[in-house]
Amino acid sequence: MKLQTRVVLIFVIIFFLVTALVGVILPSAIHEQTLKSATESSSLQISLIDHSISAFISSAKSHVLELSQNPAVRDRDDSGFTNYLNADEETFILSPDEQEQGIITILNNYRTTNPYVNSVYMGRENGAFVRSHPRGNNTAYDPRDRPWYILAEENPDSVVITGTYRSVTTPDMNIGVVKALVDENGTFYGVVGADITLEGISDFISGIDPEGSSQLIISDENGIVLTSSDESQNYNDIRRFLKDGTFSFLTEESGIIRTDKGYLVHSISSETGWKIGILIPFSDIETETNEVIFMVLGYLIAGLILLSVISVFALNREIIRPLEELTGVSRKIVETGNPDQKITVKSSGEIGILEAAFKEMLEKIKTEEREIKEALGGERQAKAELKRARDGLEEEVKARTAELAEANEHLKDLDRLKSMFIASMSHELRTPLNSIIGFTGILLKGWSGEINDEQETQLKIIQSSSKHLLSLINDVIDISKIEAGTVELSYSSFDLVFVLKEVMDSFKEQAEEQGISLKSDLPGMINIYGDERRTKQIVLNLVSNAIKFTDEGTVTLKAEAVDDSAVISVADTGIGIPEEKISGLFMPFFRVHTKGRLTEGTGLGLYLSEKIARALGGGITFKSILGQGSEFALTIPLRCTEE
Ligand code: ADP
Repeated sequence: MKLQTRVVLIFVIIFFLVTALVGVILPSAIHEQTLKSATESSSLQISLIDHSISAFISSAKSHVLELSQNPAVRDRDDSGFTNYLNADEETFILSPDEQEQGIITILNNYRTTNPYVNSVYMGRENGAFVRSHPRGNNTAYDPRDRPWYILAEENPDSVVITGTYRSVTTPDMNIGVVKALVDENGTFYGVVGADITLEGISDFISGIDPEGSSQLIISDENGIVLTSSDESQNYNDIRRFLKDGTFSFLTEESGIIRTDKGYLVHSISSETGWKIGILIPFSDIETETNEVIFMVLGYLIAGLILLSVISVFALNREIIRPLEELTGVSRKIVETGNPDQKITVKSSGEIGILEAAFKEMLEKIKTEEREIKEALGGERQAKAELKRARDGLEEEVKARTAELAEANEHLKDLDRLKSMFIASMSHELRTPLNSIIGFTGILLKGWSGEINDEQETQLKIIQSSSKHLLSLINDVIDISKIEAGTVELSYSSFDLVFVLKEVMDSFKEQAEEQGISLKSDLPGMINIYGDERRTKQIVLNLVSNAIKFTDEGTVTLKAEAVDDSAVISVADTGIGIPEEKISGLFMPFFRVHTKGRLTEGTGLGLYLSEKIARALGGGITFKSILGQGSEFALTIPLRCTEE
């Protein structure tokens, strides 16, 4: 989905959500508000009506008070006043005297100048009853029994209002505003009063119209409807209309009662104790609520539409279009593979930064592409060179291999020559050398005639040189065999201790001659399966060296079996080996000491011994301190493994 469509969709969703939410919450809130303001305005009207009634009653009271203070009205002489105590309708004739007529005129003046006043009258303690205008029916009548008279007598100091009562002479309801007549001695002698018809009050109140279709209803403290917008309810009991709400209406100072028809806002009139109520029909509240809802929703929808249009327009201009262009450019790059694209839109803020970053990225891609191309060119060149080098290398390898093969052939020839030389040397040299040694021995022993000292010296030199040469040849042959891998080991079981003892015996004489004590520390027996001759050859060499390089002291030969090996050590108290020479000790023709009698030797003994020890599966180790002596140790397995 395109970004623009999505944004529009989001706005539509927001629009409906907000409208729905407001549509749900608003009615109850507005209903509350409308009810509140309606009840407030009704309360205000009630207090206005209360005020008007109070003013009305107050004015009536002040008129009555005025009458009660009128000297003519107050006249104590009431003996001649009319009374109806025993009046008979048929026979009664009203004939007031002059004094009474004066009072009647005063009372009637008040009645005629005030339209709400029904009648103005005075009752006296003697039962006299003077009235502003003639009664309709001249029935028997005792004012002293009337509620208004009794009430005034009970409250002699103030003007009082009676409850509503039905008039004796007219069908409508009245209230009486009455004042007791009290002489200067405080003696009560009569009551003067005015009847105000409720119709009159209704007329007066109907000038104050409640708002809309609200209805005004006023009842006395007993719940008799005094006046109502619905006139049919007048003088009826309010219980008929209010039912369960009646108690609250009559007892509470003020409040709101929910009735079948609507909300009744009510309050007690302070002057009269009457109940004043205004009924607000449900329909009034609903109509007003709906009007407000429609108005608010109308403004809200218009506002949302305006907001959406402006937002979509602004979003489109500021974000969507620049983003679409960037997307278009990216797509073009992907489709064409060419990063050389133009961006025309200029934005500010984050989108501007994004654009700048995008442009920078394009530049980088271009540069990197260029670099890659160059690098690729370089790589191609390098590859070509590599190929050339590889081709050359192949040639080279071929040439070298050929040379190597040739050298190998040559080596083989040399090896053959060497083998031939060694074979012939062993035969051609050892045979005459053995003869020389043998014959010089015979000559030295004097078996072929006497020899002088000089001859003996010369012969000994010949014999020793020949022996040296023979041992050298033997060593060289041995070495060449070992290096060629053709040395043959012959395995057998033997007692190492026995062999070692033989070696000791063979050096006894030489040791004695050199004044060296030859010691041994050997166990009873060490059984070995290995090459007896070669083992003996190594030990001979080690003991021979020890004796050779020791001027005085001891040469000790030890042997013991440790784990699977036999360790044979030859220790001497001789001249020792300097540390810097140690590394070359087992090299061929290596010799440390080359002076005096120590010039004897080939430098092959240790080299050969070490090689043989390895061939047997063992080795030679040594330690030495210059000037104090050396100790060489040969280790060979108790059971050598044949190859
Ligand atoms: P050769 O004894 O024939 O000279 P070797 O290979 O047996 O040759 O010994 C090499 C050298 O090692 C000797 O020339 C000597 O200098 C030194 N060497 C060998 N054994 C001893 C030893 N027990 N004490 C001191 N030097 C020794």
